[in-house]
Order: sequence, then C-alpha cells, then structure tokens
Amino acid sequence: MTGRPTPETTASAALFERALAVTPGGVNSPVRAFNAVGGTPRFIRSAAGAWLTDVDGNEYVDLICSWGPMLLGHAHPEVQARVAEAVARGTSYGTPTEPEVQLAEEIVGRTPVERVRFVSSGTEATMSAIRLARGFTGRDVIVKFAGCYHGHVDSLLASAGSGLATFALPGTPGVPVSSTELTLVLPYNDRAAVEKVFAEYPDRIACLITEAAPGNMGVVPPEPGFNAFLAETCSRYGALFVSDEVMTGFRASKLGQWGLDGAVEGWRPDLMTFGKVMGGGFPAAAFGGRADVMSHLAPEGPVYQAGTLSGNPIATTAGLATLRLATDEVYDHIGAAADTIKAAASDALSKAGVAHVVQSTGTMFSVFFAEGTVRDFTDASRTDSTAYAAFFHAMLDAGVYLPPSAYEAWFLSAAHDDRAVQTVLDALPDAARAAAA
Ligand code: PLP
Repeated sequence: MTGRPTPETTASAALFERALAVTPGGVNSPVRAFNAVGGTPRFIRSAAGAWLTDVDGNEYVDLICSWGPMLLGHAHPEVQARVAEAVARGTSYGTPTEPEVQLAEEIVGRTPVERVRFVSSGTEATMSAIRLARGFTGRDVIVKFAGCYHGHVDSLLASAGSGLATFALPGTPGVPVSSTELTLVLPYNDRAAVEKVFAEYPDRIACLITEAAPGNMGVVPPEPGFNAFLAETCSRYGALFVSDEVMTGFRASKLGQWGLDGAVEGWRPDLMTFGKVMGGGFPAAAFGGRADVMSHLAPEGPVYQAGTLSGNPIATTAGLATLRLATDEVYDHIGAAADTIKAAASDALSKAGVAHVVQSTGTMFSVFFAEGTVRDFTDASRTDSTAYAAFFHAMLDAGVYLPPSAYEAWFLSAAHDDRAVQTVLDALPDAARAAAA
C-alpha cells in the first residue's frame, strides 16, 4: 500500500528462533517481544545518535531510546570517552569510589533529595524505598495507583480488589496473596479515593508511591495540584510520599516531573526513586530523600539494604557524564522535536479519521489510540490496540522504531535532528491510513 519495499528481516528472524530456544519468549524483558503488535522483534546490532541499525542492516529512527535512558542519543562521544577511561581502570571493585560521590552530589544538587543510595535497577529502587518507608514509620500498608508501574516488586505487582478499600490481589502468578494483602490500589487522579483510604487506615499507611507523572500506561499527567495534594495528605497522616521518577527523572524536564510541579509549588517528596537517564545507558538507579529518613538505612540505621554492583564505577561514570551534558538546550531541543512530532502525528491521524489523543508532561509524550482525555488506567484501557499494531508496523517498515505497545511514551533524544524528525514525519500519513484500515 505504501509502495515501499518491506525491509529484509531474515537475520533478525533467525536470531529470534535461536533466542526462543534458550530464553522464555526470546527476550529478556517482555515488552521487547512483539506480542502486543504481532511479528518478530528486530535484533539491534548498533546504535548512533537517533538511529538504530539491525542485524539485517536496516536503519530506524529510535523512538524508544532504551525506554528512556538515552537522553543524549546513542554512543554520545563524550559519554563514550568517559566510559572507556573508566573501563580501562577496571570495572568493579566492591569498594567506595569517587564517581559515586560525584553522581550523588549531582543528584542532590539538582533534586530535592538530601541523601541518595545507588542500586542497579528501578525495581530495586522502589523496593528499597518501600522497605525504608515501612522501617521508618513502623507501619505496614502501602498505597499505589492502578496503571502506575514501579518495576517487578512483588508487593507492587498488585491489582485493585473489588472495592476501593479492599486490599489488592496479586497482579501475576508467582506473587503470593501475602505479598499484596498490604497494598491498596487506587484510581489515578482520584482525590476522593485517596482521602477515603487515609481516613480508613489513618495509622497504618507507611507510604503512598506514585509515578511522578505516569508514563507506563501512556503519559497521563497528574491533574494540576494532584502531586501537591498527595504530599500534603501523606504528611497529614504521618505517611511518606514516595515519588517514583525512574522514568520522568532528568527526562520530563531538567529537574524531572518535580521541576514541573513541586519546584514551582514549593513542596518536596519524602522519598524519590530515579533510574534510566541517571545511568547513562548502564544499570544504575537510586532512591533518596529526607536526610532523617535516609539515615535509617544500614549502615547508619537499622533498615537493611545492599548490592554487589550498587554504585558501579562504569555506570556512575556514564550517569555523571550524561547528567553534566543534560543542559537546558538539550531539554529545549527535545521539547521542540516532541512538539513537531506530536502535531504531525495528530494531523495524520485526524486526516485518516483515527480516534486519538496526544498527552504530555514536559518533554515526555504519548499518542493514545483512544477518544477523549485519558486521566486514569480505566481510560487508558480504551486504547484501540489493533489500530496501534497496524500503525506500529507501517512505521517500522518506513524506518521508525516505536514502542511495540500502545501504552508507552515515545522517547526522543538530543540527537533527534532534522533528518531523524523528518523521517518520522514522512512515515506518519501512510501509517495513519494503515491504522484506519
Ligand atoms: N519505576 C518506573 C516509573 C519505571 O518506568 C520503571 C521501568 O520502566 C521502573 C520503576 C522499574 O525500573 P527497572 O526496569 O530499571 O527495574
């Protein structure tokens, strides 16, 4: 229909066959498989700037950016140079190092956290933040929102029970009921639901954890004042407010989502979690917050937490180089490229008669294949995934690698220049018509 030749993908297909024989589903994280859109994932051989090259030699404009981390684009020369120097000095010592201190200083200088502890994944960050919140408050119940993803922590892989005040059910086989029976799951952006559970369990809630702006059900911005309301409610009841900025941190803006609301409105989370951008493409993440809360962590305090590769010198070097290069200009550039792509996507989908809504927070955005504003998980679930699958494949055939799921943000980088953006714009009209078919 597009007149374009379908890309050759035999090398990817052959690797996928081999992968299926040795790895469940052929991938090491489920969303990388094309289960939601059909077809075979492309195996990437290399990446530079805004572009991915697969094992068949096809090139794609990358709108995944490793699911957020690659803020500067792939293989940024300065980051590569710092990493190469660090690798030459050895890769892991299991002792304290200078890059850890420098990265911690950078994060403490740039966010409201007073102390920070490094871990190796966002999952570890949220898991540890919750343990610390429980240890600090001496309480057991935690509150989260439906559609917010905080990694594969047992107690957070929970789905709402049958009533608002009902404790959650396991969100996947393998999580015992005992792991989710202290988790309450509420609809996002719903102040009344939050008030209700705090009134019901005034002395039991250790913390409320939320994505600072959800990006894992597509981008669903907090309604104005919602995060401030959460911070105030937690404080009123003696619970901790845990703001998960693993995705939004150093991405939605230079100061993350907090730069868009807390910094303007004058409030701070008690604890925050970070990952993705702050690891510069390496496995690094962090949690941090109020000094009096963080001082409860071992070895200063009684709450145990540890990690063999935590604060790894290569990862912290890459993260530090990335954050130091993440200037206002980087965010301005990504914001402008995002605006161009959002407008063109909306225009193409409107012309093709495809119901959609574009939502953003700072420089992060997503295109929902659904009608009307999406303010919570129930709204997001109205997405037409069949239309998205057709759109996704048409974009892929035209050289644009979108997330292989309708419920994800589209990520850009400082390296998305005019040529990369134009490639996306050129692909949109045919893809929108494919979605309408
Ligand atoms: N929190 C948020 C908001 C995330 O988006 C993610 C991952 O996408 C995580 C936590 C988990 O991070 P990781 O995949 O590094 O374990």
